[in-house]
Amino acid sequence: MQGIRKLTAQTYDVAVIGGGIIGAGIARDAALRGLSVALVEKADFGSGTTSGSTRLIHGGLRYLEMYDFSLVRMDLREREILLHIAPHLVKPLEFLIPFYGTSLWFRLKMRVGMALYDLLSYDKTLPNHRMLSAAQTLAEEPTLRSNGLQGAAAYFDAQVSQPERLCLENILDAEQHGAVVSSYTEVVDARRDGDRIVGLLLKSTETSETGELKAKVFVNATGAWFDRVSNRTHGPSKPRLRTTKGIHITCEPMNRKASVLFSPIDGRLFFVIPLLGQCWIGTTDTDFEADPSTVRADGDDVEYLLRSVEPFFPNVRKLTIFSSNAGVRALVRQGGSASSVSRMHKIEETQPGLISVLGGKITGYRAIAEEAVDAVCAKLANRTPGRTDKELLPGAREHQTLNLEATVQRAIAQEHCWHLADFLLRRQPTAFADDQGRGQASQVADVMARELGWETAQRLAELHRFEAEADRALLFRQELKSLEHR
Ligand SMILES: Cc1cc2nc3c(=O)[nH]c(=O)nc-3n(C[C@H](O)[C@H](O)[C@H](O)COP(=O)(O)OP(=O)(O)OC[C@H]3O[C@@H](n4cnc5c(N)ncnc54)[C@H](O)[C@@H]3O)c2cc1C
Repeated sequence: MQGIRKLTAQTYDVAVIGGGIIGAGIARDAALRGLSVALVEKADFGSGTTSGSTRLIHGGLRYLEMYDFSLVRMDLREREILLHIAPHLVKPLEFLIPFYGTSLWFRLKMRVGMALYDLLSYDKTLPNHRMLSAAQTLAEEPTLRSNGLQGAAAYFDAQVSQPERLCLENILDAEQHGAVVSSYTEVVDARRDGDRIVGLLLKSTETSETGELKAKVFVNATGAWFDRVSNRTHGPSKPRLRTTKGIHITCEPMNRKASVLFSPIDGRLFFVIPLLGQCWIGTTDTDFEADPSTVRADGDDVEYLLRSVEPFFPNVRKLTIFSSNAGVRALVRQGGSASSVSRMHKIEETQPGLISVLGGKITGYRAIAEEAVDAVCAKLANRTPGRTDKELLPGAREHQTLNLEATVQRAIAQEHCWHLADFLLRRQPTAFADDQGRGQASQVADVMARELGWETAQRLAELHRFEAEADRALLFRQELKSLEHR
């Protein structure tokens, strides 16, 4: 909660409604491009669908079956980017798809699907898929039912055990780059000039404070609340979303690897995944039209999951179920069963001055945010490109620093490291970096000064000594140049 007054003090380049992963990603991307940004969220950051997800960063094997190749490719590319910019939150995870009573045709289809998944992630750092015999499958996952097991396909995707934190770090980085954000602040109405939005009317959910947020461009990133918010910004509008509920349960640990299973009830794909020392089972997919804030798992949902898991992990009903979790998907409206609706997002100017994000996944949040900010920039005639594909999230930067700190401390305590140059040129591969470790020199000198009690003059002398040693390896350049001119 920032206090509404702080938000209403200026006219921003862009104002974002919704502090889920997509709104947070948009605020960060826009702030990193130098735009002035405001973001409002009616509850806690990441408390909407972002916290109700299965927590996978994945291309989604099942979207291959729906021939959604562009979605799978985008998400596999994003998976690789997230492994790089948020390695403290996004981790590789191996999945098994066990085969029971399947035809040769099914297994062949699965093999082709796996090969295609590898092909679509040609630029990945994760290993390719493997095909396992029944004995190999049981060796890797002993609690699976052995009776009738034909083998398994094994492949890698990734997991974000705390999507709420991923969301929060986008918010924090946006703030560090100048964005003004406020949770527990709801958009209750809009001020319009004709159809064009010129201001959002805000109300604190905690106090009686109200105010108007002004911006040149607005973004609706309210996920499953999109139609509800649209009714406020535009007046009664035709629903654009199909909303479906998905639930998960957490129980005692049961399996070593993640399993992809097909429910014997309706053939739907679902997961049984190790998560933070527990077992995480989900999800379901049923139409849900009530207010997304009221979603919860009910008895029927949990019974569906238990009946789906039981044929594969016969002990599941003996385990204690610790809790449940639920979220509402925002799917761009189309007919058919809930599971068959495409997960591809859409970005549109749904009202003059209002860019809207419909649908999407956590996996693709960064790319979706970039596309949305491109649309905002086009309206502002701003050509600054996005750079969130390379910029580490704050936790990853901190992680890198702390590691670095621990490595310097170990080198001093255990590896006869006395000088800055000892560390940068011989204890680490930094000498082979294109800057020979010069970018880290000042940071490492700070840690060594603290650990070894260097005064300011000695710290400076160490930096000069390192520079001189590093420069010696470059002296040949001048000589080479004069040889070339001879
Ligand atoms: C069961 C389930 C499993 C899923 N599993 C995965 C998965 O494994 N991997 C994956 O990539 N994706 C998954 N998804 C999809 C993913 O969770 C969503 O696409 C993503 O979280 C959407 O983020 P968002 O920011 O659009 O929405 P949200 O996180 O819902 O954020 C929207 C925010 O808008 C706020 N808001 C609403 N109205 C207002 C208002 N008037 N004023 C201010 N703020 C408002 C809400 O409080 C909310 O916090 C899953 C979804 C579900 C439901």
